Amino acid sequence: MGNPKAFLTVPRKEAGYRPVHDRINDFSEVEQTLNSGDRRLQASRCMDCGIPFCHWACPIGNKQPEWQDLLYKGRWKEAFYVLEETCDFPEFTGRICPAPCEKSCVLMLSANEPVTIRENEVSIIEAAFREGYVKPVQPVRNGKTVAVIGSGPAGLTVANRLNRKGYTVVVFEKEELPGGLLRYGIPNFKLSKTIIDRRIDLMKKEGIEFRLNAMVGNDISTKEIVDSFDAVCVAIGSEIPRDLKVEGRNLKGVYFALELLSQQNRILEGISVPPKNIINAKGKKVLVIGGGDTGSDCVGTANRHGAASVTQIEIMPKPPVGFNPGTPWPAWPQVLRTSSSHEEGCVRRWCLTTNRFIGEKNTLKAVEIEEVEWIPGENGGRPIMKPTGKTEIIEADLVFLSMGFVHPEQEGLLQELKLATNDRKNISVNSSQQTSSEKVFACGDATTGASLVVRAMASGKKTAKAIDHYLQS
Ligand SMILES: Cc1cc2nc3c(=O)[nH]c(=O)nc-3n(C[C@H](O)[C@H](O)[C@H](O)COP(=O)(O)OP(=O)(O)OC[C@H]3O[C@@H](n4cnc5c(N)ncnc54)[C@H](O)[C@@H]3O)c2cc1C
Ligand code: SF4
Repeated sequence: MGNPKAFLTVPRKEAGYRPVHDRINDFSEVEQTLNSGDRRLQASRCMDCGIPFCHWACPIGNKQPEWQDLLYKGRWKEAFYVLEETCDFPEFTGRICPAPCEKSCVLMLSANEPVTIRENEVSIIEAAFREGYVKPVQPVRNGKTVAVIGSGPAGLTVANRLNRKGYTVVVFEKEELPGGLLRYGIPNFKLSKTIIDRRIDLMKKEGIEFRLNAMVGNDISTKEIVDSFDAVCVAIGSEIPRDLKVEGRNLKGVYFALELLSQQNRILEGISVPPKNIINAKGKKVLVIGGGDTGSDCVGTANRHGAASVTQIEIMPKPPVGFNPGTPWPAWPQVLRTSSSHEEGCVRRWCLTTNRFIGEKNTLKAVEIEEVEWIPGENGGRPIMKPTGKTEIIEADLVFLSMGFVHPEQEGLLQELKLATNDRKNISVNSSQQTSSEKVFACGDATTGASLVVRAMASGKKTAKAIDHYLQS
């Protein structure tokens, strides 16, 4: 611990976002950076607690106090080495992790001003790339081969770890570019795609082969994969969005969130989209159904298109503001979150269900919503939703359904690989991420359901270790 009094004298300082009037006109990253002097001061606030709850809360087990101390002392290179021991891609987590570590920081409890752990993390890896500390490693090959199906954060973590251990790794990806939801889900204003390209280039230089436009079970048979590799890792994500099968669902103007978000990312990438398929919110009244992060990303995208109005509705009650006694420190607090996209302009409403979509000439014009009440479940069980009969018609030209994802998309692939699914229809794995099929492992959202980048990476780390163990025994 470099400066034992800094937590008393240095306040938390966030880099903050670009001003709304500026950022709303483009899709560039909204978050700014601090200069290196301020960044080091922020790192000095870490108290190196006897029990580092930040470390406990981080799904990949980052050693935050250690790299904060090195960062404070200006030993950026060593900070990078400690960080990369546990985190394969700090440039992703440092930008888009919701940072449960910060919610568990003791300075969150005592002063509501946790250390800026996430921002410090990204500043270390960006300095490492800038200064040339990140260099391609050239592992000694051990003669064994691994196929990774899917190039999202889970698959990339497995590939990275096993490649560096000497396995020959091939990543199969059905899309035209690698990255999974990092590439085709998360908007560029949260994560620039040049950041993914930089990492993929490095992984290629280290010997990983990416086969793109290669859908396993379609473009390549699963038998060929299983027969050709010593182990297989299925990291195909959880791609089926939850639908809202109410009257008018097929009207023109009602889309899944990812239809908008992945198309927008493709357009920004220069990938051509047929004009008749383009979804653009310019001048439109937009309704986002679902109050989570994916919905918030639709809000930010619609505002950048120049929507006339944006409303986001959620079926659950509004969470408490600031503090929730039901989720006390150091747990992840279930409280109201306001994203950069919400700040850019959006009406947010809660306790609303959607009864029907109303159209004219097969085109969406309005949506009937209804207030609901939530009654506590018996014996502390799940709350029960009760419609109130209070309905309302709101005008809408575009609706984006952002109500989560249900399970992996490809029943065919799962059957061909003889992979069992659990009752939530995620791929079943044992404690070593091993499936019911010989030499086939699985990880990420495909096994847990839709989650977070950092959790997908944690699952990838565990799976890489299990595959290594399997291939060594
Ligand atoms: C809109 C949106 C915003 C999000 N924002 C955040 C955020 O800000 N922070 C955060 O932490 N998390 C966020 N998440 C969640 C996060 O993106 C996911 O939890 C994470 O990407 C899951 O990683 P994964 O590798 O398991 O799957 P994915 O990222 O879904 O990757 C799976 C990959 O497998 C490929 N694939 C599927 N089937 C095949 C096949 N048969 N053959 C070859 N390839 C195949 C897919 O094309 C895809 O590239 C967001 C999610 C969405 C939808
Ligand atoms: S990965 Fe997320 S939880 Fe872990 S240290 Fe970074 S910001 Fe915190």
